[in-house]
Amino acid sequence: MTTSVNNNTTITIKNPADGTIVGTTNYYGADTALEAVERARAKQPEWAATAVKERKKIMLRYHDLVLKHQKELLDIIQDENGKNRRAAFEEVLDNALTARHYAYRAEKLLSPDRAKVALPIATKTQVQHAPVGVVGIIAPWNYPLVLAISDAIPAIMVGNTVVLKPDSSTPLTSLRAAELLAEAGLPKDVLTVVPGSGREVGQALVNSVDYLMFTGSSDTGAKLASQAGERLIGFSGELGGKNPLIVTSDADVDKVVSGVRHACFSNTGQLCISIERIYVHRDVADKFIPAFVRCVEKMRIGPGHDWDIDMGSLISSDQADTVASFVEDAVSKGATVATGGKRLPDLGENFYAPTVLLNVPENARLHREEVFGPVVYIEVVDSHEEAIRRANDTEYGLNASVWGKPATAREIASQLEAGTVNINEGYAAGWSSIGAPMGGWKRSGVGRRHGDDGLLKFTEARTVAEQRIVPIAGPDGLAPEKWANLLTMALKYGRDVLR
Ligand code: NAD
Repeated sequence: MTTSVNNNTTITIKNPADGTIVGTTNYYGADTALEAVERARAKQPEWAATAVKERKKIMLRYHDLVLKHQKELLDIIQDENGKNRRAAFEEVLDNALTARHYAYRAEKLLSPDRAKVALPIATKTQVQHAPVGVVGIIAPWNYPLVLAISDAIPAIMVGNTVVLKPDSSTPLTSLRAAELLAEAGLPKDVLTVVPGSGREVGQALVNSVDYLMFTGSSDTGAKLASQAGERLIGFSGELGGKNPLIVTSDADVDKVVSGVRHACFSNTGQLCISIERIYVHRDVADKFIPAFVRCVEKMRIGPGHDWDIDMGSLISSDQADTVASFVEDAVSKGATVATGGKRLPDLGENFYAPTVLLNVPENARLHREEVFGPVVYIEVVDSHEEAIRRANDTEYGLNASVWGKPATAREIASQLEAGTVNINEGYAAGWSSIGAPMGGWKRSGVGRRHGDDGLLKFTEARTVAEQRIVPIAGPDGLAPEKWANLLTMALKYGRDVLR
């Protein structure tokens, strides 16, 4: 692991790319987490009473501060995670975009909506959107800014208070972002970051908050969803993936290979929406496979803040072991290594080469299981129908990608079982479509982030219905049968008129 915990409850973060110490921070237990939730609960009514316009100003100031402190944030993200600079930049971009989007969008989404009623004019109904209370966020290590703070932003904009548990490998990013939010004017106790273990701090949140937002593995997500179910609190889980990419028969191979490479190896493959399976149409396979392998072999890999590095290290030696064991298992069962398939000890103990596998047999673990590392396999298919069938033959459904002529790709995209489908992009077009919902089908998740769903999930709806002129049960003095006849006529009339 890149972190070490001592008995005095501090945690030391090491850079997984070069082993240097990045920083130290407190490491808390369940009691501290519960105290944070209590303080958040006490603060929440006051924060909810703050005008949305005021919250918007704070969020736009935060947006500016993120951009102003971009270099510092990039350094922290890279140093505690080991990722390359461009992957870190995607986080800063997302964070600023999310702050801007919900700063402007919240006012409209939180305004009461008028609703259809049975007796127009007589009943006036509006739907109000109230905050749920205290939102708990449990985040993973792979995108420490996006999957922690970008998810807190819509929750905060609604008027909730938030207690956030970052992953123990990467707490420094969210701690620094929380300082920037405070500098932007966010009052104390609206967002509290509590580094600690899943067993202690994570479980304390699961058992005390009013809504749980979780990003991480499908197995942990399923456990937490059932705990949230026991408590009857809202839950959203952004979980694992085994994302497919299809290269169509009409793809211009030379033009697509570098984009496909980015789709597979961005963030060292430790990206829930990155590609682990490629289905290439036989018409272009002979050209695509060698061109793709050549492109992968040109990647610049290493530690450091240089913008030109294409891929950094894995998060830990455990993760490097996991990746190596997936590849060894596949090779022992007959897979062929087209490139990679080995550690890169000269660069550091947590580096693993970008790996392309061919002829992966169905009984290899990585055929279906998520590796979460820089490993992709290619299968040749005889038709687009076969590509779609194979792409959908998975327990996951997070992201998918199609490369080819737009009309062909669109036809395929509409048949894929995934929360996002990117055409001539790996994942970034879907992810950065901040106004569109993002999340997983099947075992890839419950609920959505981004779009209106990504804010409204942190609300409770309150329907306020006001009756005027005549009661629903009919006016006093009118025979019930006459009233029933009148309502029946109204229904008949309303069928085509009151749509
Ligand atoms: P993980 O499930 O092991 O841990 C995620 C977080 O949950 C960590 O903060 C951890 O401390 C906490 N946690 C673990 N067990 C807990 C428990 N019993 N109670 C409370 N908290 C607990 O996942 P990971 O290995 O850190 O992340 C990798 C996984 O996350 C991959 O499967 C990846 O696909 C997925 N992921 C999904 C998305 C998405 O948006 N869909 C994004 C990033 C990562």
